[in-house]
Amino acid sequence: MKIEFYRHNLSSIDIKNVREVLGSIFLARSQTNQEFEKLLAEYLGNKHCLTVSNCTSALHLSLLGCGIKRKDEVITTPMSYVASTLAVEYVGAKPVFVDVERNTGNIDVGNIEKAITKKTRAILPVHLYGQMVDMKKIRKIADKYKLKIIEDAAHCLEGKRDGIKPGHLGDTACFSFYATKNITCGEGGAVAANNKNLAERIKQLSMHGVTKGAEQRYTKLYRHYDVTLLGWNYKMSSIQASLLLNQLQRIEERLRIREKIARQYDRYFKNHPGIEIPEVLPGSKHARLLYTIWVSPKKRDYILHQLQRKGIGVAVNFRPIHLMKYFRNKYGYKIGDYPVAEEIGARTISLPFYPKLKSKEIKYIISQVLKIV
Ligand SMILES: *Cc1c(COP(=O)(O)O)cnc(C)c1O
Repeated sequence: MKIEFYRHNLSSIDIKNVREVLGSIFLARSQTNQEFEKLLAEYLGNKHCLTVSNCTSALHLSLLGCGIKRKDEVITTPMSYVASTLAVEYVGAKPVFVDVERNTGNIDVGNIEKAITKKTRAILPVHLYGQMVDMKKIRKIADKYKLKIIEDAAHCLEGKRDGIKPGHLGDTACFSFYATKNITCGEGGAVAANNKNLAERIKQLSMHGVTKGAEQRYTKLYRHYDVTLLGWNYKMSSIQASLLLNQLQRIEERLRIREKIARQYDRYFKNHPGIEIPEVLPGSKHARLLYTIWVSPKKRDYILHQLQRKGIGVAVNFRPIHLMKYFRNKYGYKIGDYPVAEEIGARTISLPFYPKLKSKEIKYIISQVLKIV
C-alpha cells in the first residue's frame, strides 16, 4: 500500500471558481480576495482580514505593523516551523525562546515573564498542531508589560480555546494556506486584526507602501498614489483567493472527518506503552492540522524509516529551531538550552491525517505503527 503524507481536497466547485477568475480580465488582487477576506473575518469573528502571499509574510507584516524593529526582543517558541522565528529575524529583532509544555508542545506561558527584559516588545506564540495556547494568560502578561502579541495560527484556523479564537486577543493572527494546511491554494496566507489603523497599515505594507491599490486606481477616474513608508510586495492573486472561497465554507465538515480519524488513532495509541500523544486540553477545540505521535528518541528514526518502507508518508514536526545551524551560529545555542522542545523534536512522528484517508488506509497505518513500535 502507498499512502501519501497529505492529499488536498479540492472539489469541482473550487475548480469552477478558479475558471471563473481565469475568464476575468484581472488576475491580481481583486474583488475575489475581498470576498474571501469577508468570509474569513466572519468565520473567525475578527473585524479585518487581509489575504497575503503566505503566512511568513503575514508574520513579517504583523511585526512591521506593530513597529517591531532592530534591537527589539520578541518572545517565541523553539517548537515550531522555522518561519515563525525567521519573521523576527526579517525585522532585525532578536528571537528569545521560552521552552514548551511537556503535555502539549505549546509555549509554556508560565515561563514567559522570566524571559521579559527592557528590550522585549512582543510575544509571538504558535498554536502547535492546531491547539491554541492560553491566550487569556498571554494577554494579561502583554498588558502588564505593554507588549504586542502576534499569533502564528498557521495550524489553527479552526481552533478555539475557552471561547477565544485566533486574533481575538492578539494584535494580529497569521494564517497559512500552504499546500499541506487544512485549506490550501498552494502558497498563501492571511492576517487577521481588530484594530482598524493596524489593519490599514498592514495592508499598505503588503503593497509596496503605496497609498492606493490597483483596484482603487483603475476602477474610477485615475487617481495618483504616493509612497509613504517602505512596503513589500506580499499580495495574494485572485486565482489563489478563488481556490479558497469554497474550501472555507466546507471547513467544519472537513474538521469533523479529521476529528473522527483522530479518535480512531487515539483508541490504539493513547494507552500504548511505546507511544505518547499530545494532550488535548479541556475547553480546547483542536484544529487538527497534524496528528503526531511521540516515540522513544532512540527509535524515532528507525520507526520513521520503517513506516516509509511500508509505504506510509510521514513528517517530523518539528526539530527545534534553536538547534538549526543558522541560529546556533548567530546566537550560540547548544543542546540542553530548551530541553522539552528538544525532547519532543527527538521523539515526534506525524502520520497521514486528512479527510481523503480511506478506512482501510487508516487501519493499515494503525497496524503498521503498532507492529513497528
Ligand atoms: C506552515 C507554517 C508557517 C509558514 O507558512 P507559509 O504560508 O508557508 O509561509 C508558519 N508557521 C507554522 C507553525 C507553520 O506550520
